[in-house]
Amino acid sequence: MTDALSIARELVRCPSVTPADAGALDVLENILKRAGFEVHRVVFGEPGTADIDNLYARIGNAAPHLTFAGHTDVVPPGDESAWTHGAFSGEVKDGFLYGRGTVDMKGGIACSVAAVLDYLAANGGKPKGSISFLITGDEEDLSVNGTIKLLQWAAVRGEKFDHCVLGEPSNVEQLGDCIKVGRRGSLSGTLYVDGIQGHVAYPLRAANPVPDISALIVALSNEPLDHGSAQFQASNLEFTSVDVGNTASNVIPGQARAKFNIRFNDLHTQETLRVLVEQRVAKAAGNRVRARIAWEPSNSNVFVTKPGAFTDLAVAAIEQVTGRRPEFSTSGGTSDARFIASYCPVIEFGLVGQTMHQIDERAPVSDLEKLTKIYRGVLDRYFG
Ligand SMILES: [Zn+2]
Repeated sequence: MTDALSIARELVRCPSVTPADAGALDVLENILKRAGFEVHRVVFGEPGTADIDNLYARIGNAAPHLTFAGHTDVVPPGDESAWTHGAFSGEVKDGFLYGRGTVDMKGGIACSVAAVLDYLAANGGKPKGSISFLITGDEEDLSVNGTIKLLQWAAVRGEKFDHCVLGEPSNVEQLGDCIKVGRRGSLSGTLYVDGIQGHVAYPLRAANPVPDISALIVALSNEPLDHGSAQFQASNLEFTSVDVGNTASNVIPGQARAKFNIRFNDLHTQETLRVLVEQRVAKAAGNRVRARIAWEPSNSNVFVTKPGAFTDLAVAAIEQVTGRRPEFSTSGGTSDARFIASYCPVIEFGLVGQTMHQIDERAPVSDLEKLTKIYRGVLDRYFG
């Protein structure tokens, strides 16, 4: 059973909520081994995190090397009794495959595997170059023992990737409407303002940080970081919480803090952004207000894959199957493409994302068939 629907159903029946694998990678290992792939299973861990199972499989030794990336872990199902069909049942009803991960992104993985098997069968079992699968079980949660380490592991082995297709649900409304060619970066920090704690009846003996942090929040929120770039929307800084930790109504608190997150485009790097925000805080704080920022470490940098031969062949394959010319998008949250982009050009194209992470996540069976044809078209054009 090597069609996309059968593979997707087998994967969905593994309740692989991060960090559990629940047999999902075994499903892929068995199928890929039978097709002649050399399959590696690698477990990564670090203190304070759960060990995670990952899979790397390759067939062929020559260039060019096209890799299909993805993750078999899923987010929790939520209230399982609220699902019309069991969250891990893999049931097909009225033309839809139901279950957690159908869209994000076991369905996408199943389509890429089915397309590759179909391509190999039509080409004497060997690609003209190399095809690989780079599959992790750590994308939805911390993303520390997955793709980022699998790529480092592969590099040590001497693996070189020329291009990557990541099968995340990239489409917004209909299959074929969107290829993701980049993502904004993400950077978080906490703004601290130190005052002097005291009795509210004696404000001259205290320094209240609440009005001061409020003024800084307004100043940082009002001034745009940029106005967007050729391929990206504007960067934005959003405050997500403000706290003083004060339970008494007669005490002026000694310190106030505000957490914020920035989604930034290709006009910035983490370093230039830190400098810019700190300059703005210093300016707004003046000489009187004592403010500082503690930055959180981030492995989420901005990236963009420039239009070219690779994106052209993907567009052609999508247009042939769906009749739609996809737009190039850089919107949305982060994905593992941010890690892959350091090794080779990467595009994201998968199913329609509408029901991902929701109760009754589901994919039309017809979309699974079409996506398989699209990936097959990519393979034909890539190695043609
Ligand atoms: Zn995903």
